[in-house]
Amino acid sequence: MTKTTVQEMKNFIGNKWVSATTEKMESIPNPATGEIIAEVPISGSEDVEKAVEAAKEAYVEWSQVSVPNRARYVFKYLQLLEENKEELAKIITLENGKSLKDARGEVQRGIEVVELATSTPNLMMGDALPEIATGIDGSIWRYPIGVVAGITPFNFPMMVPLWMYPLAIACGNTFVLKTSERTPILAERLVELFYQSGFPKGVLNLVHGGKDVVNSILENPAIEAISFVGSEPVAKHVYQTGTANGKRVQALAGAKNHAVVMSDCDMEKTIEGVIGAAFGSSGERCMACSVVAVVDDVADEFIEKLVAETKKLKVGDGLDENNFIGPLIRDSHKDRVLGYIDSGVAEGAKLLVDGRKIEDSVPEGYYVGATIFDEVNTDMKIWQEEIFAPVLSVVRVKDLEEGIKLTNESKFANGAVIYTSSGKSAQQFRNQIDAGMVGVNVNVPAPMAFFAFAGNKASFFGDLGTNGKDGVQFYTRKKVVTERWFN
Ligand code: NAD
Repeated sequence: MTKTTVQEMKNFIGNKWVSATTEKMESIPNPATGEIIAEVPISGSEDVEKAVEAAKEAYVEWSQVSVPNRARYVFKYLQLLEENKEELAKIITLENGKSLKDARGEVQRGIEVVELATSTPNLMMGDALPEIATGIDGSIWRYPIGVVAGITPFNFPMMVPLWMYPLAIACGNTFVLKTSERTPILAERLVELFYQSGFPKGVLNLVHGGKDVVNSILENPAIEAISFVGSEPVAKHVYQTGTANGKRVQALAGAKNHAVVMSDCDMEKTIEGVIGAAFGSSGERCMACSVVAVVDDVADEFIEKLVAETKKLKVGDGLDENNFIGPLIRDSHKDRVLGYIDSGVAEGAKLLVDGRKIEDSVPEGYYVGATIFDEVNTDMKIWQEEIFAPVLSVVRVKDLEEGIKLTNESKFANGAVIYTSSGKSAQQFRNQIDAGMVGVNVNVPAPMAFFAFAGNKASFFGDLGTNGKDGVQFYTRKKVVTERWFN
């Protein structure tokens, strides 16, 4: 779907597309060209209230639909998403900028969560134990919780919303979705396909906007639970305010993921893997590799080959399949990233590949090329902070222990990867590394949908991650029944 005209976005509340009650609109550029492709409403609390009312009303009947029948709607949705895969991927590239290959990968990962949601009859099952005492049975039953809200970031316009509402709705809840105001276009298509699957009105509602919508969600007493994915400061705010207001909250936050490269790694595959993890999706991934800790013995060889391969990556519009690195999301983010590169130079890191200089001819968009720093240390801002761009820091370490220690000093703990051919090193890494998601010779260790997805430390606020059994537990309330019958 290539837009030639500017699309005016609308909220979807109850059963129809409606304009927001506010007059405020924000322009959405195609990050590859700067061309304005849509206008998104920046909704207010009244819009949230209407959406919550619609969801509350729908909950009465939806929560009573049998679990297998709810799963049948999800099967239909799955089928429609499958049929429209390529169109969905193109919209992602258009509004987010990532390459079409990365967008197709995102569509696939999103669809896998919908596949998971089709197995809700199994996932929601309780437990039972007869004769917990003479003539007494015990059992656990799972029920939906009510109206759930989801707040999502710009970097995965399809996958992250799909972490949330399909499973929540399959569990019998109704949903208010607020996607990123920087990538709102795909959400409208996801909602259209959702209702084409036959879901009853009000089950899924979409409210466009920014922090006012988020703060209204946090305050709304009818919302029982919030799923949030975004940057660390906002995740913390959402978690603290949401829980203070008595809501269940899972808030997935920022990251600074490390890879440890051992001398017994498969060098070629490691380089290919690190490049994919660091520069794929222009580094705008919460699981992007941002730091490589390479052991001294192989550091020179690794860095020389890494630099040579990185220089081959083409930068440009993600719709052109020759390009590996697309634009960043906005000009303002590009400026922020250039500031980080300047700070790395000023703090004494050795700039080996300079993404400020792009050799390919690129359109007017927000491009920064792949960037590699060597001789980075933990006092530098480029090591400490999430840059969210194709900027990779290399730190030289003496051995595995030092690599693990360095990684564990990060305030974030989302993903971490080791490249090695030693089972013993891999085992030590798994046991000692502080990260929610660990990879062994796997470049981006994002779990499949049937496992939970969440980090540790400042990368996650909450108890239950998204997806898998965690997701089902988050979206359901338990009752433990102890029963005795006299006749
Ligand atoms: P962001 O925090 O700016 O925005 C996320 C959501 O919060 C958006 O819907 C936005 O409208 C809202 N928001 C922004 N500022 C707010 C404020 N002051 N008050 C209330 N709400 C506010 O994040 P982003 O830039 O869209 O996304 C990138 C971030 O998301 C990165 O930090 C990345 O690591 C993180 N992320 C984490 C995961 C994960 O699984 N841990 C996955 C994807 C992205």
